[in-house]
Amino acid sequence: SHRIMLGPLVAAIDQGTSSTRFLVFNAKTAELLSHHQVEIKQSFPKEGWVEEDPKEILQSVFECMERTCEKLTQLNIDISNIKAIGVTNQRETTLVWDKETGEPLYNAIVWLDLRTQSTVELVYVIVILQHKTGLPISTYFSAVKLRWLMDNVDEVHEAVVSHRAMFGTVDSWLIWCLTGGKSGGVHCTDVTNASRTMLFNIHTLEWDPELCKYDSCLTLAFNPIVLPKSGALSGIPISGCLGDQSAALVGQMCFQDGQAKNTYGTGCFLLRNTGAKPVMSDHGLLTTVAYKLGRDKPACYALEGSVAIAGAVVRWLQDNLGIIGSSEELEKLAASVGTSYGCYFVPAFSGLYAPYWEPSARGIICGLTQFTNKSHVAFAALEAVCFQTREILDAMNQDSGIPLTQLQVDGGMTSNRLLMQLQADILCIPVVKPSMPETTALGAAMAAGAAEGVSVWSLSPEDLSEVTSEKFEPQINPEESEFRYARWKKAVQKSMNWET
Ligand code: ADP
Repeated sequence: SHRIMLGPLVAAIDQGTSSTRFLVFNAKTAELLSHHQVEIKQSFPKEGWVEEDPKEILQSVFECMERTCEKLTQLNIDISNIKAIGVTNQRETTLVWDKETGEPLYNAIVWLDLRTQSTVELVYVIVILQHKTGLPISTYFSAVKLRWLMDNVDEVHEAVVSHRAMFGTVDSWLIWCLTGGKSGGVHCTDVTNASRTMLFNIHTLEWDPELCKYDSCLTLAFNPIVLPKSGALSGIPISGCLGDQSAALVGQMCFQDGQAKNTYGTGCFLLRNTGAKPVMSDHGLLTTVAYKLGRDKPACYALEGSVAIAGAVVRWLQDNLGIIGSSEELEKLAASVGTSYGCYFVPAFSGLYAPYWEPSARGIICGLTQFTNKSHVAFAALEAVCFQTREILDAMNQDSGIPLTQLQVDGGMTSNRLLMQLQADILCIPVVKPSMPETTALGAAMAAGAAEGVSVWSLSPEDLSEVTSEKFEPQINPEESEFRYARWKKAVQKSMNWET
């Protein structure tokens, strides 16, 4: 059979909180040609703790790459047409490994993890930190997790003392392993991931010496790194790296000041491009490096509203309550009632992130009556995702003074059409979802391709006009929407004060 001629291809490793994917796109058309996805186990060893196994994460990447290549071969597509690989990853999740043995020294501490709550409550340098890093003090970011590892895990402490410890976010771990590991792996990260560590100065785009008072920092400059000669993808450069939310912003083509996207995965992240200037929020949002596409290109910044629990509540309904058998069942269950019947669910499992930054908040379900059943709770869980987004959008609009007139969305949860309609209803603006849902991976693949000089699906108006999407228009009246939102805010207050 004949090989299909497609021109250059670009690929992405997308290592998310709940799954890993490897995807291959046609560089000219951005068409997704082949992909493979593997779920990642999360463990909850103690209340508030969330961990993942670094080796399982790495294995999942190998498996996804192999299976995708097999699928391409079955489609008669030549793997050697892949010109560049981008890496995109769950951000903040923190790993430490031994550079001599290549072994992880502890599980990956996932961004959602709350074990550092008592540490962050002791830190009083909030103002300086926020100015330098763009971040509030929170259990969310890497530095506090790293501190915990150094103070509480003997193996980590010993490795630090004997200069064998390597610290990194998930991108660093994967790239180090993929480029040879203990025999010469490259220890690096990019500015978007670095800007989530709390060790990075977002103005100078450098590690901050005052914040990094330990030995060696990771290399920052992102130069293409060629994969060693083994496996189907040997010799192909990894030439781009972006934290997942940055990659989604790129994949949604939000290159103009004021453009925004909201991604619904394990958590929910609304990023608004603020151009070349880092804007500090007065309303509980983060300031983060959005992307820097090329060595000589300027950095572009974003305001970010982070919501800890979105898709994670779906998994909780499935695994902890057992009221659904799969995430797809949620939509049917919630749609069967079409209302929460006055039930409100604040899933503050990891405290509350933006705009409250309250680590001591805990989840509540309130407004229950004899009439309430699991369908109402399911509906309330979906509404919770929408209300949390509404709070972020309000904060974003207040910070910028220019309200968004529609919301571009993506992420695993957007396959839930009821959720998308509810979101439009609760925001009172249209919600627009691209028909190619893998925008995070596309963004990383585009960035990698551009670095290799591959003419990636360009950003010209003609190409943009070809992006097909689906639009959800608000269908309820704004008074109804405001009423429900006001109730939600009351429930949030209870989730923050339920102990007192
Ligand atoms: P991540 O990048 O954080 O790994 P994804 O973007 O892959 O997340 O989305 C996965 C999340 O979306 C999971 O938490 C899952 O529960 C949720 N999800 C997937 N499909 C649906 C659905 N049809 N309805 C509601 N939630 C869904």
